[in-house]
Amino acid sequence: MPIQIAWFRRNLRLADNAALLAAVRAGGSIIPVYIRDELDSGGASNWWLHHSLDALGTSIAAQGGKLVIASGAPVDVLARLVAEHDAEGVYATRRFEPQARRQESDVRDAIAGIADFDISDDSLLYRPEDVTTKTGSAYKVFTPFYNASRALGEPAPPAAEPGEIEWFNGPVDSLELDDLEFLPTAPDWAAGLRNTWTAGEDAAHERLASMASKIKGYAEGRDFPAEDATSRLSPHLHFGEISPRQVWHGIMNSAREHHVEQSAEPLLRQLSWRDFSANMLFHNPTLPTDPLRGEFSEFPWTENEEWLTAWQQGRTGYPIVDAGMRQLWQTGWMHNRVRMIAGSLLVKHLLIPWQHGAEWFADTLVDADTANNSAGWQWVAGSGSDAAPYFRIFNPIAQGHKFDPDGDYVRRWVPELKDLPKQFIHEPWTADSFTQQTSGVTIGKDYPYPIIGHKAGREQALAAYQAMRAHNAA
Ligand code: FAD
Repeated sequence: MPIQIAWFRRNLRLADNAALLAAVRAGGSIIPVYIRDELDSGGASNWWLHHSLDALGTSIAAQGGKLVIASGAPVDVLARLVAEHDAEGVYATRRFEPQARRQESDVRDAIAGIADFDISDDSLLYRPEDVTTKTGSAYKVFTPFYNASRALGEPAPPAAEPGEIEWFNGPVDSLELDDLEFLPTAPDWAAGLRNTWTAGEDAAHERLASMASKIKGYAEGRDFPAEDATSRLSPHLHFGEISPRQVWHGIMNSAREHHVEQSAEPLLRQLSWRDFSANMLFHNPTLPTDPLRGEFSEFPWTENEEWLTAWQQGRTGYPIVDAGMRQLWQTGWMHNRVRMIAGSLLVKHLLIPWQHGAEWFADTLVDADTANNSAGWQWVAGSGSDAAPYFRIFNPIAQGHKFDPDGDYVRRWVPELKDLPKQFIHEPWTADSFTQQTSGVTIGKDYPYPIIGHKAGREQALAAYQAMRAHNAA
């Protein structure tokens, strides 16, 4: 019987999995394999990956198969598997990181003439090649990109799980999942992650169902970090435990059934930002390292280890920022609004290069994603193609009052401030000593003064921006 290899990458699911379906349709028995490579590098996302592979392996085992685990350059592992098993084809899902694209061309070249290499496109709603301007170039601004995507019509409906899969049940060399060492040893920093998340395809569908049931509140609630208004599907989508079109149709079908189609639109728009970021990376492979706007190469960033550490540890003295950074450290996730506010403080008030922020996020987010993370940071820094202008500087106090009006989010993540009256919660240094005493907190001792005043930080940021412009004009 012919043998096909299903190379699982960021498509850790059985349903609506175009690569797996293609392998099944090719006929024969399937060897499912996951290969750990240099792209699996973030601490928190590797924690997720371990559990996601565990869930996938369990689903495959329930059908009589065994997920093969390997480590190394995919080209070496796959060429060896093809040779050892005389496999007819290798089936995979496309990725957009430059290293991942290189992997694809290496594998294609290595097995050319020996086995087929089939790459499917189901990690985005639409292929980058299908969403282009009339002249065939890439969109640089989100709204026209979104309109062009919508003009393509609804994304293809998800495919069902392939019925009976003939998993290969002969011997195949495999590592154990634990050999990949994705889980922390001492110290065990993952307790908060374990308490917050369940990885895997079933959990992803539960989250989708939960989002569909509260879709009416999404548009209004999505900017308020104390509310559980967003889907939290990002890690599930990142690892492909659920496909974006399953999300799209799941949300739309439910909205249609309840006659609330309009309420679905804002979420579908966010999902399209995911496509847009992947497109940006596809067309600009240096997105993770270089500013898209060339003039930002001359930006006078400063290196300040002490400030960077204070920001990472949630000790900047700005409660909304510190709440976000501690939520990130404890749960591996941060609310989108707070990612923007915390990011802005780092690159504007503190003038620290956005790449340092992106590196910290890449290590600590369970949804760490090269495209979304780089695009998010370039947006915050003003150096992206459709970014917030640099001179528009978030005021972390005003943002706190606006998006966490009662301070519930801050109270949850910065417990030393939990008893402060609401008018001081986003600027605790303005509380008089009596209020501090009765609230059980002394600013400067239990919680820091702001790392830099908002006015001073803002002026410094604007001066740096002007210096960059002057340099570029000269
Ligand atoms: P929802 O609001 O429920 O949105 C649904 C889905 O749409 C998300 O799961 C996500 O896949 C996608 N999405 C939503 N907002 C965005 C966005 N702005 N850009 C791209 N896709 C989006 N997202 C990541 O998945 N990984 C990252 O590494 C990442 N880094 C970021 C860094 C910065 C500085 C910023 C400002 C944003 C970053 N984002 C990243 C985007 C966004 O913050 C998260 O996708 C979102 O908070 C996830 O929460 P959710 O699933 O509840 O989102």
